[in-house]
Amino acid sequence: MPHDHHHDHDHHHDHDHPHHHTSVSDPDASRVAALEAVLVAKGYVDPAALDRIVEMYATEVGPHIGAAVVARAWTDPAFRARLLADGTAAIQELGYGGRAGEHLVVVENTPDTHNMIVCTLCSCYPWPVLGLPPVWYKSAPYRSRAVMDPRGVLADFGVTLPAETEIRVWDSTAEVRYLVLPERPAGTEGLDEAALAALVSREAMIGTGLAGTNPASQR
Ligand code: FE
Repeated sequence: MPHDHHHDHDHHHDHDHPHHHTSVSDPDASRVAALEAVLVAKGYVDPAALDRIVEMYATEVGPHIGAAVVARAWTDPAFRARLLADGTAAIQELGYGGRAGEHLVVVENTPDTHNMIVCTLCSCYPWPVLGLPPVWYKSAPYRSRAVMDPRGVLADFGVTLPAETEIRVWDSTAEVRYLVLPERPAGTEGLDEAALAALVSREAMIGTGLAGTNPASQR
């Protein structure tokens, strides 16, 4: 089945959603800082409350949450089914949540299909489960090449898949965020959830990597 070049058919490229930001060239940090200064000056925002939110995303919310979700899905088939049917609800079961109006869709890797996520317009990302996006995720080369040449991008990340494996690229938006459920590595049957979660890197959940057999160093 040489359908390697068909990935664009599965690619959700309708990106006419109201975006949470419009510029792709300004560094997020300076834009946020400028907005914060205005809001604080006008008395809308308590700077201490903003600091707590930033601190939370920097320290508490990170890929360890997504990795815990993946490990649960690997060990609990009923949870996996609920996760694939409604990612937002299943992740709330575990005590993690997104913001209102934001849907999390979990896409499962199989021997036949590899999923990769991108935001072609800017940097939409599943913050509630992965924390802050890596710098490369927001880069113009990744945003354009992930769509045109996903196999080449995977090679740059050191991932080579069989030619028969179909690659699906999912374009994130302000409303719909994707999380990749990687394949459980072979030989991990004896591991408990915590040990399994340690094998799940951020890249594996974006689709630019695979779940490993050695603990990921990404905390
Ligand atoms: Fe975006």
